[in-house]
Amino acid sequence: MTLNMILATGLIIATVGFIYLAAHYNFWRSKASKAHPRILMYHSINHHAGISHPDLVVTPANFKVQLQYLKNNHYQFFTMSELIAGQQATSTPVALTFDDGFADNYTHMYPLLKEFNAKATIFLCPEMPKINKLSKQQIQEMQASGLVEFGAHTMTHLNLEQAPDELAQQEIIQSKQHIESITGVACQSFAYPYGRLNERTVNFVKNAGFLCAVTVKKGIEALTNAYMVKRISVLGKTNIVQFHIAMTRGRYRV
Ligand SMILES: [Zn+2]
Repeated sequence: MTLNMILATGLIIATVGFIYLAAHYNFWRSKASKAHPRILMYHSINHHAGISHPDLVVTPANFKVQLQYLKNNHYQFFTMSELIAGQQATSTPVALTFDDGFADNYTHMYPLLKEFNAKATIFLCPEMPKINKLSKQQIQEMQASGLVEFGAHTMTHLNLEQAPDELAQQEIIQSKQHIESITGVACQSFAYPYGRLNERTVNFVKNAGFLCAVTVKKGIEALTNAYMVKRISVLGKTNIVQFHIAMTRGRYRV
């Protein structure tokens, strides 16, 4: 190998490395205003990565590090209904949201929520297949703590974009009523399954009496459209540097 070949190889390796880092650590994105709420999207908090979607499982240890980060950086916790009601005027607001209603939200997430005096919004999907779901008692205990709000996520994790009108409306309304019958309070927040929605879906959710709805679109912005709320996705492999990038810029990777 000549010296030129060695230098050229080194340059290629450095370039590939730089592109990889820039793609997975998006420091180059512009920072979001501190006044805009950060709405984090989680699913399962558990030691064991699930079989079907291991990305969606964050370990309790990592979740604790993330809560510590939020505390150290003076974020204040709100439920989705509190955010929509505008209770966050004086602080850097954050809402922790959990989709689907995994039982580990009680066994692994809730103890840490109490430890940090943090708040969460859990979107329940009462008839979602193939997951270990929260029990009625677990839901009622968390509801009584004042730390957890329960929102709806349809009955069966229906793709609302593709479903016929009648079925879509039925699942949206039924999930709201079902959750209210367990918690005894108004169910005001909604999460679109798979983040799938269209104009028709938004109107169904509004007409059912929900005050806000979250998507899976990534970002940080003012809550100008309460039915198209963007979130910050936190995955099992998200490290704390990437978490910091996401908290300040809305997302950490391309
Ligand atoms: Zn879901």
